[in-house]
Amino acid sequence: MKGTILVVNCGSSSLKIALFDEQLNKLASGLAERLGKKDAFATVKGRAEKIRLANAANHKEALDTLVAVLQDAGLLDEAPAAIGHRVVHGGETFREAALINDDVLAAIKDCASLAPLHNPVNLAGIDATTALFPGIPQVAVFDTAFHQTLPQKAYLYAVPLSLYKEWGVRRYGFHGTSHQFMTREAARILGKTPATTSIISAHLGNGCSITAIRDGNSVDTSMGLTPLEGLVMGTRSGDVDPGLFDFLANKGVAAQEVHRILNNDSGLLGLSGQTNDMRSLCELADHGHEPSHIAIDVFCFRLARYIGAMMTSLDQLDALVFTGGIGENSTLVRKKTLAQLRLFGFTIDDELNNQHGCISDGQIEGADSRFRVLVIPTNEELVIASEALEMAGKPRTNAGSL
Ligand code: ADP
Repeated sequence: MKGTILVVNCGSSSLKIALFDEQLNKLASGLAERLGKKDAFATVKGRAEKIRLANAANHKEALDTLVAVLQDAGLLDEAPAAIGHRVVHGGETFREAALINDDVLAAIKDCASLAPLHNPVNLAGIDATTALFPGIPQVAVFDTAFHQTLPQKAYLYAVPLSLYKEWGVRRYGFHGTSHQFMTREAARILGKTPATTSIISAHLGNGCSITAIRDGNSVDTSMGLTPLEGLVMGTRSGDVDPGLFDFLANKGVAAQEVHRILNNDSGLLGLSGQTNDMRSLCELADHGHEPSHIAIDVFCFRLARYIGAMMTSLDQLDALVFTGGIGENSTLVRKKTLAQLRLFGFTIDDELNNQHGCISDGQIEGADSRFRVLVIPTNEELVIASEALEMAGKPRTNAGSL
């Protein structure tokens, strides 16, 4: 297939696009932020100035603006050959990416109650690109799809089974494209095939999740029905006692407010009282700010605890992999986390850990470590572009798992 591939990632109030050539080299990228607000704006990589968007611009307006910038730059003189969309929730319907048709759109709508902030805006993105580029094959790539291999014992919560059967209450898992990419990259680095590679993949960005991957398949993951469960994140609490809802209700805090606190005011931000940004926290901790020190400690302890838990799903471990903004860059988080895992046989080479970024395969384990430890930059856009390229080349009757 010749031509470009456009990747669209609609968040609740943001939109990211990227343009790739057919060899999957990135040609351009852009970002629109604060959508729906009066100060919405967009930026395009390589241009210093911000582009002001219309008052309360929506996803369609933002996409139109960003595409027009690419067209002005001569990068999109012809319609793209394929368009890939990140779609957050594919429920139990999608085990892989799907070529978008009416049935696929209806199924994405059906999953909206599981991701009310995300699936509707993902659909808005698909509508917008359909209007701009009618007739071009479009592919939905789901955050949840990679985790559809979870065994029942890992995806069921110990609540009445009727909640699962009637309403789909179960663990779905997220960040699937990143964990899938880690499997592929770790396999490449280790000289194996993805199908024979078993890793623990820790994606640590603003959202954080960890996945056990056995022979290329996700077999346990920390995020659950929603992306709130599991690790400590930038503003999300991760695991808390579900009894907290009733406890706070008795103090007069409504369930919706508890939900807001756990999603927006918790995690690194809640503990430090300062910021959700790990880099800033490390600087604050260096200057003796005790709450920032505590936030980093809780983050690393929870992560180490989950790495231990993920070991129970594996027969062998080819590598522990760190990725995402924190995983790729925070020497301190990697060191503190691995220091908690000596009993498992993990050790770290301080020099390699400190110089990561200058070495080709990102290995940071000590010579005496029982397991390999790798740092691998994630690239979710690339996975979406490659899935779009592959699926758009297939006959139009093949609509993913539907
Ligand atoms: P998102 O989930 O929004 O894509 P990223 O993957 O970009 O987020 O990760 C953002 C996080 O990475 C922030 O907490 C940021 O402080 C952290 N980070 C980036 N660079 C560094 C660094 N050099 N040291 C520590 N943390 C870093």
